[in-house]
Amino acid sequence: MFIGHYGIGFALKKIEPRLSLGLLIFGAIMLDILFGLFLLTGLEHAKIVPGATVVSPFEFYDYPLSHSAVGALLWATAAFLAYWLWPKGDRTRRKRPAFVLAAAIFSHFILDVISHTPDMTIFGNNSLKLGLSLWNSLEGTMIVELGLLFIGIALYRNATSSISSSGKYGLALLVLMLIFFFIANIFGPPPPDMISVAVTMTAGQIALVALAFWVDRNRIANQSSQKL
Ligand SMILES: [Zn+2]
Repeated sequence: MFIGHYGIGFALKKIEPRLSLGLLIFGAIMLDILFGLFLLTGLEHAKIVPGATVVSPFEFYDYPLSHSAVGALLWATAAFLAYWLWPKGDRTRRKRPAFVLAAAIFSHFILDVISHTPDMTIFGNNSLKLGLSLWNSLEGTMIVELGLLFIGIALYRNATSSISSSGKYGLALLVLMLIFFFIANIFGPPPPDMISVAVTMTAGQIALVALAFWVDRNRIANQSSQKL
């Protein structure tokens, strides 16, 4: 999945307003950032096969560390422990946000199972492979991805208010960039090779996370959200 993950990041702000939108989006796309890094270091593999699915030209044939059920669970657990046990401040108040961060990370696996052809393993290619192949439907992909994004943005806007023009226009910029990349991904030409995919995907996602942190610093959580 592409921008649907960002929709989950936006939506979770409503559930846990203490977490920055930047951290929530980082959680929701963390497995893709890891995948980019593992591609560059040769730990995971994929290849470009034009027409592999209707909307994506990739064959993901070896990525158990980032995109398996066990891998996702381990990354989510590691993030939960790191956030909860961070050696500063009050640990008892951090259990809930730590859990929401872990949920953001694991949600990635579930959404990718919906989008991908059966290449999402329990752990490795000798285990069960999952995938509902939404990527073989252009209309279905557009409806689900844009639907998740817009529901997420509506919840985020409901949970926060801008305290400066940066909070307002920065959010609009973030949304426009997400839609632009989504459309370019689907309708643009296939990329030249996996190395350039890994570099642009990783750099682009980190830039979007940084923008989300900046947007969130220019917005405050609304009263009703803080009570949750
Ligand atoms: Zn993914």
